[in-house]
Amino acid sequence: MNHEASNDRVLARESLPYIIQNLRAVYGVPKLERGLDPLDVLIETILSQSTTNANSKRAFDSLKRRFPAWESARRARVTSIEAAIKSGGLAKQKSVRIRQLLNEIHKRRGSLDLAFLKTAPLEEARGFLASFKGVGPKTVACTLLFACNRPVFPIDTHIFRIARRLGLIPDKCSDEEAHRLMGEMIPKKRYYEVHINLIRLGRQICRPRGPLCEQCCLVDYCEYYTAQC
Ligand code: SF4
Repeated sequence: MNHEASNDRVLARESLPYIIQNLRAVYGVPKLERGLDPLDVLIETILSQSTTNANSKRAFDSLKRRFPAWESARRARVTSIEAAIKSGGLAKQKSVRIRQLLNEIHKRRGSLDLAFLKTAPLEEARGFLASFKGVGPKTVACTLLFACNRPVFPIDTHIFRIARRLGLIPDKCSDEEAHRLMGEMIPKKRYYEVHINLIRLGRQICRPRGPLCEQCCLVDYCEYYTAQC
């Protein structure tokens, strides 16, 4: 390992309390919505892959209107699911994945009820979700954190970019490794808050191209910004 880079990461991690505090001062403390259904969140997160929030929300709402019960989607033709989610992008691929997922859950559990994820040992819950095709670390973490209130930190594309720019994770870092590192360094009770606030920062300020560093509440702790000066 490059010692200079590793020391920089230690420094970045020492700034984490200030990073969390500054994000909170700007974006507040978001409240986790209670009572979400784990299967709803799982499918909503699959629909959010490689598209915008607005598109995936539209696709999910349309899917729920067409199939108010997931059991009816499981019994439907893939083409009907595809038609329902066409506004979300990659509808052909995602409809196949969703139908496969529903069938596989039903086969293994005898129903589509995923409430057991709220109380199962965490590694078992994580392993169960991760065993399905097309369900990566972010989808696992979103389902467990949002719908089951379990301590798993989800990293989307915004958080991945910001964490690298801040120097919290290495430039070359797999999705799994990023989830592990960020999960270890952020206090568990702040997972939801930090997840939501980093996404807000990523959408408004720390954009993929042309980040607005002069307006950023994390400018004092950012490796990327320091390297540009
Ligand atoms: S200072 Fe710039 S690069 Fe660093 S987190 Fe803020 S917007 Fe992103």
